[in-house]
Amino acid sequence: MTVREPLTEFELISRYFSAIGPIKSSSVKLGIGDDCAILSLPVGQQLAMSIDTLVAGRHFPDGAQPYDIARRALAVSVSDLAAMGASPVAFTLALTLPDVDQPWLQQFSAGLRDAADYYQLPLIGGDTTQGMLAITVQVHGSLPQNIALKRSGAKPGDAIFVSGNLGDAAVALTLMQQSFDVTSAQQAFLHSRFYQPQAQLALGQQLLGKASAAIDISDGLLADLGHICKASAVAATLYSQQIPLSDVVKDVVDSQRALYYALTGGDDYELCFTAPVVQRAEIIACGQSLAVPITEVGVIAAGDGVQCIDQAGAIVDFPHSGYQHFQ
Ligand code: ADP
Ligand code: MG
Repeated sequence: MTVREPLTEFELISRYFSAIGPIKSSSVKLGIGDDCAILSLPVGQQLAMSIDTLVAGRHFPDGAQPYDIARRALAVSVSDLAAMGASPVAFTLALTLPDVDQPWLQQFSAGLRDAADYYQLPLIGGDTTQGMLAITVQVHGSLPQNIALKRSGAKPGDAIFVSGNLGDAAVALTLMQQSFDVTSAQQAFLHSRFYQPQAQLALGQQLLGKASAAIDISDGLLADLGHICKASAVAATLYSQQIPLSDVVKDVVDSQRALYYALTGGDDYELCFTAPVVQRAEIIACGQSLAVPITEVGVIAAGDGVQCIDQAGAIVDFPHSGYQHFQ
């Protein structure tokens, strides 16, 4: 890339992107500095990969703090590893920057470092170019042969579960666009739920061999559960009164809006998964041991599509079921 003096591209990389994440990783044979990084997985392990791009103004508000952007960028990619039950191995970063703004890079690098330490994921390479701000993170994970949590394994009769609470990130995003009455504690909570989603890595790994299908909730429960249904050729029914909501969401929006945000808002990065009912007790115990709340929210049936019913059995209707680009 073309960079402004006095920092060259290579100085930039070594100053802000070297030694991020655990330095001694048994899988990383060669990290930043050569033409390729080299990974080596233990015998019997498969490599799981996923890539996500975050574009300014689309995936985060234009004024977002660089520290927050970096943390969120890594978390959303790691969430894909979690949804497959994979263990973290390493990540790469393709960064497009409008200019070399060192205070910005300093904060971005600090956020990336904190997230990489948290998820125990070393940065092993990347690319740096000039243009409109965009951040691409590719994560690499490992999995024992043939036991990944795919979208395609749900069976009629399976129970549907979600981790955590839903709707926080959608309410947070709404709050960034229009102001409504919240306390500063509520605002801080919502901000962190949007910018610091917790990828459910440990839970995903614990679900291997127990869950029949899984997905991370990036586009809203209705849309993402819809992907499981499509891939598994089944239908799903959700129970509106079981959808888990945080106290903050219950306090700041009315119950109908809260349900709307929880089902159609994206960005929560919790896991949605299905499992045969015989696994229920073990799954709930698993969540307790990890201190991750797990809620049973519905049931899989033969057919297709996702519906949500209320206590009286009436279908709850929503105008759209999740965010899609190019619509
Ligand atoms: P090449 O021209 O051979 O593709 P680059 O000059 O793009 O190599 O990068 C030099 C080294 O720095 C490579 O090891 C690359 O992986 C790494 N690198 C470049 N940009 C980044 C970045 N943003 N984060 C981490 N590593 C990077
Ligand atoms: Mg090269």
